[in-house]
Amino acid sequence: MTVRVRFAPSPTGYLHIGGARTALYNYLYSKSVGGTFVLRIEDTDLERSNAEYEKLQMDDLNWLGIIHDEGPDKPNPKYAPYRQSERTEIYQKYALQLIEKGLAYYDFCTDEELEEMKERATRENRDPVYEGKWKDPAFFQEGLKKVAAGEKAAIRFRAPKKAFTLDDKVKGSVTYPENMVGDFVIVRSNGLPVYNFCCVVDDHLMDITHVIRGEDHLNNTVRQLMIYEALGAKLPVFAHVSLLIGQDRQKLSKRHGATSVNLYRNEHYLPEAMCNYLCLLGWSHPSEKDIFDKAELKDVFNLERFSASAAMYDIEKLKWVNGEHVKKMSNADLITLVDKEPETDFFSKQTSEWKLACVELLKRYALFIPDFPKLINDLILKDDPEMTDALKEILAWETTPKIMSFISSELEKVTSEFVTEAELNGWMESVKKDLGIKGKPLFQGVRAAITGHDHGPDLKFLVPLTPVSVLKKRLQHLNK
Ligand code: GLU
Repeated sequence: MTVRVRFAPSPTGYLHIGGARTALYNYLYSKSVGGTFVLRIEDTDLERSNAEYEKLQMDDLNWLGIIHDEGPDKPNPKYAPYRQSERTEIYQKYALQLIEKGLAYYDFCTDEELEEMKERATRENRDPVYEGKWKDPAFFQEGLKKVAAGEKAAIRFRAPKKAFTLDDKVKGSVTYPENMVGDFVIVRSNGLPVYNFCCVVDDHLMDITHVIRGEDHLNNTVRQLMIYEALGAKLPVFAHVSLLIGQDRQKLSKRHGATSVNLYRNEHYLPEAMCNYLCLLGWSHPSEKDIFDKAELKDVFNLERFSASAAMYDIEKLKWVNGEHVKKMSNADLITLVDKEPETDFFSKQTSEWKLACVELLKRYALFIPDFPKLINDLILKDDPEMTDALKEILAWETTPKIMSFISSELEKVTSEFVTEAELNGWMESVKKDLGIKGKPLFQGVRAAITGHDHGPDLKFLVPLTPVSVLKKRLQHLNK
């Protein structure tokens, strides 16, 4: 059996973090079994759907590297079209078949009548279910005549009177009791079909074998199981992945911060890091790895490692994952990206050797690519370091002024643009031997005199990256 999975977004807004995670799981699963990943656009809600959102969502998926094999832009003639708004006739045809079999019926009830049914049920403390007369087979022929005469009617599905059980890959066995849902509309009176119906018709016609989607759809699934049965269609494997929650354990929403992918894209998150983090929200690596690329998952991703409990979205962890991906990048790629950042004139003018040493050192501290220019400014180019209490304390030691005046005179002798590691080692030796300063006063004193900080990267890496002109100005500033 060829595995066919689908991601079926409704283009009613930006791509949400939860949607991206669903898309990713489908993509990864299809890749892990050599299956096909289908993108289907569920735009039956014409008022809320819009082509611009479809494009933006596809752009975001593309950015994440979640690439579909089939979709509106890559149609397979056997299954096209891939936009539900272009499949209305197909749904009509299937709805009519259900009517012919007596599994659905025309319903002429007005909104007021339906409202009345609901109110009555509420008054009587019952779940509202459809109780209109059109449910009665005795009115079936009358319904057909009215429609033939041009009257508008909704098409309502006759919900079977029995319990349904779903064998879900994530949730296990889920039982929906009898009478949980009443007869429900599958095609509205304006001719537009509804989600639960289109979804099943499409999954059936598109030969979808596995439906991996959010747990919030579990309530729909009972209606979908009924439609599968009515169509005589084979059930796909269902995997309802756990809910995403915020730190307060409430369903993830805008209240918890950025929830759409494009905002993370604007904030310079790396797409591989986003995928890595999203993957971990509800799935775990067989060797408990935290950091990986999509490509590495090809051999290990499966449907067995989903967690049934809610996954907490933690932006701090996402940032950390991003930083780990920055560290994982090749220095050559990092250099290319840093060169493209604004305000990196100084970086861009340096030799490739310098750039290499610079990214190698700074990637330990960077969580994002734009951190590089900031770190270069703070650690390498800043010549007026802030006088923190810790720095003031070191400057106040009686040994520090001696170190500062020694380094100052040494700097006058340097003719090149940068000090070498060997020169730095020579200074340390001289301070120790000639000035007799050892231990903490030596190391902290030299660090303060050279960097204007009480802590930071190893001097042997940092000093050769710092222009002599900056070192001189810094010393002047510290002497003030
Ligand atoms: N269009 C639905 C949504 O965006 C997809 C539901 C499904 O995957 O079946 O939530």
